[in-house]
Amino acid sequence: MSKIPVGILGATGMVGQRFITLLKDHPWFEVVCVAASPRSAGKSYVDAVAGKWVMEEEIPDAVSELIVMAVEEDARRIASQVKFVFSALDLEKEQIKEIENNFASFGIPVISNNSANRFTEDVPMIIPEINPEHLALIEIQKRNRGWKDGFIVVKPNCSIQSFVPQISALMSFNPQKIEVTTFQAVSGAGKTLESWPEMKDNVIPFIGGEEEKTEKEPLKIWGEIKNGTIELAKNPTISSTCIRVPVSNGHLASVAVSFEKKPTRDQILEAWENFNPLGELNLPFAPNPFITVFDEENRPQTGLDRMLGNGMGISAGRLRDDIILDYKFVGLSHNTIRGAAGGAILTAELLKAKGFI
Ligand code: NAP
Repeated sequence: MSKIPVGILGATGMVGQRFITLLKDHPWFEVVCVAASPRSAGKSYVDAVAGKWVMEEEIPDAVSELIVMAVEEDARRIASQVKFVFSALDLEKEQIKEIENNFASFGIPVISNNSANRFTEDVPMIIPEINPEHLALIEIQKRNRGWKDGFIVVKPNCSIQSFVPQISALMSFNPQKIEVTTFQAVSGAGKTLESWPEMKDNVIPFIGGEEEKTEKEPLKIWGEIKNGTIELAKNPTISSTCIRVPVSNGHLASVAVSFEKKPTRDQILEAWENFNPLGELNLPFAPNPFITVFDEENRPQTGLDRMLGNGMGISAGRLRDDIILDYKFVGLSHNTIRGAAGGAILTAELLKAKGFI
């Protein structure tokens, strides 16, 4: 079977580089086009990322000599070479919307990591295991915009993958309140420990815009399609604190949660261990298990556990009673794999499995 040709917008950045390494040898998709700003355009990929390649893996041979195109000026040319694009651009929101709309209007589905379209009314925001039914919004979006083949689907912020899957497994107990503190890696800001000296021996108790996203985005994920849009879930209420820590990759979350119907500890563990919503689709990037549960009191740890399921697995540990809410636990996910490029690739696999691309 010949592979589906894909393009990466923002291919030279932190998330773009992740796409390049994760898509090497992908069974269904092949990177045939890389695009970035006019600063990189016209250079071979290897030259464009010279001095800023931060992945542990080498640049795949099939990509290193591709000539980088300009996302905006070369949009038509990119669209003529690919079946869909992943977007890992970092730009002003209005410019991102214009770029994503343009590609979709040319008949090219866009799977985006950027936040610009996350609350656009007819755009689904997908965690494949949790709200695949929201893909039904795509037909409404195409009708609204008069698009035949193109559409936009987005990923949520990287911070929420460290706790939303575990809470999703417990939805039948009707969670009411969540108090979450995230400890977020420097790669979430597109940086490395080497390129961010301020992070040496330091913790910064603020990440611009992150707490708002952490509190609001899960409510869209848990929402329902009504009247051509997603009606946000009313529960649970989320309060968050987001902190930058001197870790390369991996966002850890400390979570306290209350329920309308308080589950037993065994019910929680059983729900986590059996939560495998995509099981039968056999998607190449779907981790199995989805949630790994730790008994050890010092796990999950970012260094030891972020690569579970090739960076797509979610982990949970330190489940214990809470004297204010009902339970506390610690969650972990890899922010540039599950939280960004890998999550977008899994979304593309789901779109293919469901016949959207
Ligand atoms: P980044 O490292 O700063 O990369 C930004 C990319 O955008 C580069 O390829 C850059 O190209 C391109 N770009 C910048 N200005 C442009 C322009 N005027 N026209 C065309 N392309 C332009 O950012 P990142 O960390 O990879 O993040 C990318 C997106 O993913 C952001 O929206 C971010 O919020 C989101 N995200 C990041 C993470 C994470 O963990 N890092 C997680 C989830 C979501 P040049 O190299 O040519 O400048």
